[in-house]
Amino acid sequence: MKRVYNFSAGPSMLPFDVLEKAQTELLNYNDSGMSVMELSHRSGLFTDIITGAEQRLRELMGIPDNYKVLFIQGGASQQFAMVPMNLLTKSGKADYVNTGSWSKKAIKEAQKYGDIRVIASSEDENFTYIPEVDASMIDPEADYVHITTNNTIEGTAFRDIPDTGNVPLIADVSSNILSEPLDISKFGMIYAGAQKNIGPAGLTVVIVRDDLIGHAPENCPTMLDYKTHSESGSLYNTPPTFGIYMAKLVFDWLHELGGLKEMQKINEQKAALLYDFIEASDFYASPVKEDSRSIMNIPFVIPDYELDAKFVEEAQAQGLETLKGHRSVGGMRASIYNAMPVAGVEALVDFMKEFEQANK
Ligand SMILES: *Cc1c(COP(=O)(O)O)cnc(C)c1O
Repeated sequence: MKRVYNFSAGPSMLPFDVLEKAQTELLNYNDSGMSVMELSHRSGLFTDIITGAEQRLRELMGIPDNYKVLFIQGGASQQFAMVPMNLLTKSGKADYVNTGSWSKKAIKEAQKYGDIRVIASSEDENFTYIPEVDASMIDPEADYVHITTNNTIEGTAFRDIPDTGNVPLIADVSSNILSEPLDISKFGMIYAGAQKNIGPAGLTVVIVRDDLIGHAPENCPTMLDYKTHSESGSLYNTPPTFGIYMAKLVFDWLHELGGLKEMQKINEQKAALLYDFIEASDFYASPVKEDSRSIMNIPFVIPDYELDAKFVEEAQAQGLETLKGHRSVGGMRASIYNAMPVAGVEALVDFMKEFEQANK
C-alpha cells in the first residue's frame, strides 16, 4: 500500500495505528452492527466515546477541574468571533499580540466587537520572531489578552507563556496543542481546530475556565454561547461525532506513547534533525530567529528561490508531500506534527542533501 510522508500544515497526517484502528471498527463499531457515523449522538455507545475522549484529554493535558472541555464546530476561525462575543463583556477592551497571519485574523474579527489594542507585534520583521510581552504592557482593565502560541504559517512559537496577572489569557493553540505539556492554569481559555494535532477537520476543542462562561449578551446566538455547549456536555445539537471518535483514538494513541512529555521528546528530536541540518548547510536557510522557532512548522528557503518549484516537485515524486511554503512566506515549509514519524523527517533530510548536491 502506498503511504506518503505528508508535511501539510493542515489537514495533516494522522497516526497510522489510529487510521488502522478506525478501519477495523468502521463497519461494525463495538458489535453495534453500525459505524460510529451511524450511531445516535444520544446513544450509550456514543456517550462512552465523548466522555472517554474528554477524560483522556483531561489526563493527557492535566486539565484542572474548574475548566470545561467543549467539543464544537466552526474551526479555530469561529473562535476568533466567539471569544470576543463571550468575553468582551466588562470593559469592552482586549489586548492582542500580533505574531502572524492567524493573529491578524483574530484581531480583525475582534475589532467588530470592541476596543482592541495590539500590545506587541513582530510584523515589522515579517513575523520572524516572537515579541516580548510582559505584565506592564497589559491594560489591567482589559477583559482578556489574546496570543497565538504557535504560528503555523511563519514557523514561530512562544517559548514561555506570558504572565498576564489577573487578566485572563486566551490562546489559539491550533497548531501546537498536545505537542508538549502546557500548564492550563496559566490560561483563561485555549482553543484549537482539530485538523493539525487532534483528528479530522470539523471538530474544534475549547478548554475554558468556569468563571468565563455565562457572560454572553442576550442577543448572542445560542450556538455561539459557550454556556450552551458547557451545560449540554457538547450535546446541545448533533456534534461532529466521527471527529470526536477519531480524536479519542488519537488521545488513546498519545496515552499509549507515554503522554505529552514523551511526545515532546520525539517532537524536539524531529525538529532538531531538520534545524541542525539547515544550520550546517550553506544552501538552505531558516528565516526564523533561533529563540522563536516552532517545533511543529519549520519553514526554510533556498536563497536561489527559482529552485523552489523544482524542490517541491522532486520531493513529491519521492513521497514527501506538500512542502511548498505558504504564499506569504515563500520557500518551503515542513509541518512535522505529532503524527509525523522520525523516519519521515530523516527521509526529508536525506532528500534535502541529495537536492543540494545536484543543484549547488
Ligand atoms: C489552522 C489554524 C487556524 C484556522 O483553523 P480553522 O479550523 O481552519 O478555522 C487558526 N489558527 C491557527 C494557529 C491555525 O494553525
